[in-house]
Amino acid sequence: MSDHIVRATAANGCIRAFCATTSNLTEYARQCHNTSPVVTAALGRTLTAGAIMGSMQKGDDDILTIQLRGSGPMKGITVTADSRANVKGYPLVSDVIIPANSKGKLDVSGAIGVGVLSVIKDLGLKDPYVGQVELVSGEIAEDLAYYFTSSEQVPSAVSLGVLMNKDNTVRQAGGLIIQALPGASDEQIEALEGKLSAIPSMTQMLDDGKSPEDILGDILGEWGLEILDTIPTGFVCNCDRERVEKVVISLGREELKKMIDDGEPVELKCHFCNKAYEFSQDELKKIYNNL
Ligand code: ZN
Repeated sequence: MSDHIVRATAANGCIRAFCATTSNLTEYARQCHNTSPVVTAALGRTLTAGAIMGSMQKGDDDILTIQLRGSGPMKGITVTADSRANVKGYPLVSDVIIPANSKGKLDVSGAIGVGVLSVIKDLGLKDPYVGQVELVSGEIAEDLAYYFTSSEQVPSAVSLGVLMNKDNTVRQAGGLIIQALPGASDEQIEALEGKLSAIPSMTQMLDDGKSPEDILGDILGEWGLEILDTIPTGFVCNCDRERVEKVVISLGREELKKMIDDGEPVELKCHFCNKAYEFSQDELKKIYNNL
């Protein structure tokens, strides 16, 4: 199944829902960053949420960034998405290996530690919108639910999951965000919470062969589910030589002079996709002389 997000409403527009399958983009990210299983899980969850939240944006050029920063060995994750659900992201430390948690699961919370979740929305205005909350669990889904509820005042349920194969490649990844819009009654929210607590995990449902449409049907079918559209999503990095050259320029004369004095070509990697760009001595000199 190719990665996609299904957007839907229910209860006469009082509930909106997004359900995504993101196994391919999570596996691609795992390969780009050569992540350990716990980091694959954390990155996949954040990429999935980023893709969905990116697609919630209205403007064609709107950019959404989710930033996690914590005291744990992974230190953090940055994920950026546009309104067409093109998403990219990277962990600050990609090879964290820690024991499983008390439930025998990958300890994402332990890898992130105590910290902060920021959501940055660049809507092309002078200053971006920044919403920030302290991590409540470090498992990412709960933290985003808390962000939506406290920072955007939209009561939300968030479920994110990554399931690995025995060889540590990605078997399933996906996510679900359900939001109660103004007009939703307390009874509806309560009934929905009950329903959500009774369903299997996101990855279990995907692994059972259910599509995002099926999953939304299971949860919201009795509330008059209406599927609005299907949005393809994928890991897309827009880095190129020109962009990386700007990074070289931003290092400044002094740093460039050092690189030239070293006499070696310099390799710079894109944070987001890990693609390497090499700059020869001749190129470095040319950039230096143009400054
Ligand atoms: Zn890149």
